[in-house]
Amino acid sequence: MKTVKDLVQAGLVNDGAGLEAVAQKYAVGITPAVVALIDRDDPNDPMARQFVPSAAELVQTPDERVDPIGDLTHSPVEGIVHRYPDRVLLKAVHVCPVYCRFCFRREMVGPQGLGTLTPGQMDAAVDYIASHSEIWEVILTGGDPLVLSPRRLRDMMVRLAGIEHIKIVRFHTRVPVVEPERVDAAMIDALTASGKTTYLAVHANHPREFTPEARAAMARMHAGGLALISQSVLLKGVNDDLETLAALMQGFVENRVQPYYLHHPDLAPGTSHFRVSIADGQALVAGLRGRISGLCQPTYVLDIPGGHGKADIRTAAISGGDGCFTVRDWQGGEHAYPPK
Ligand code: SF4
Repeated sequence: MKTVKDLVQAGLVNDGAGLEAVAQKYAVGITPAVVALIDRDDPNDPMARQFVPSAAELVQTPDERVDPIGDLTHSPVEGIVHRYPDRVLLKAVHVCPVYCRFCFRREMVGPQGLGTLTPGQMDAAVDYIASHSEIWEVILTGGDPLVLSPRRLRDMMVRLAGIEHIKIVRFHTRVPVVEPERVDAAMIDALTASGKTTYLAVHANHPREFTPEARAAMARMHAGGLALISQSVLLKGVNDDLETLAALMQGFVENRVQPYYLHHPDLAPGTSHFRVSIADGQALVAGLRGRISGLCQPTYVLDIPGGHGKADIRTAAISGGDGCFTVRDWQGGEHAYPPK
């Protein structure tokens, strides 16, 4: 489902007229697995909120920005983001199976986004990785790398296999929950074809995303030798209550997915209706302690606007009152949040 007309026909929105302007600005995409999860009778359905466009996306606040986490300031060659010494992002593709309404790269993904690396750009990206011996880990993100065919994924993995200093390969993906049928034997073979230790971060934000099909996909990945970690975004009206957040983290662990990142929502354009305050986020994360097992505790992180990297805002965010925080980056630099 890729157009407002599709959404109207499926009964996911009543009146598409106001949404055409949203769809022209930000890509729309909802898979059959997600459509099946949406409760059309609930005007506040957390699944619809994540994937069905809303007129609220046309509201832009002054602190929002096109590149909220500063990818472009750390991109030495097309497709590579080298923000920290020992790891790089490799963004081979800017297409996703779904288009999340809160996406931090919403200006880069979709049919009007940055596209897929050309063979020449991919050669240059791999050359960059090969010529920087300090790079220990390659993180494939995008877009969603699992939209690529197993053949193309395998080709990329075989190229990484030949780079001795790369020890870890990591994928970030929404596919296991939004299009679990893609996770077949050919896909798993391709993901592990580098022979390196391979992690896969499963992006899910609500426990209802753990359908029987999604659970089976995660089980296949685990059995196929992938180490699974989690990635979620703390989103107003989706998972910003203790009960939902606890069930989400327990759901990951039940599926052998180790909770890893709970992201504070980024300052992406048109996403203010999803943002919680850092103080509320800290209270929620503190509430998980004791309530659920130590296995289920995520790290609550903020990508500091401007490309300063992630900060663990359980500890590295100090309240100045009035909703303002001072956030410390990994190099000791201090930044105001929200940015001034
Ligand atoms: S799958 Fe990831 S990159 Fe794609 S729209 Fe959702 S959050 Fe953005």
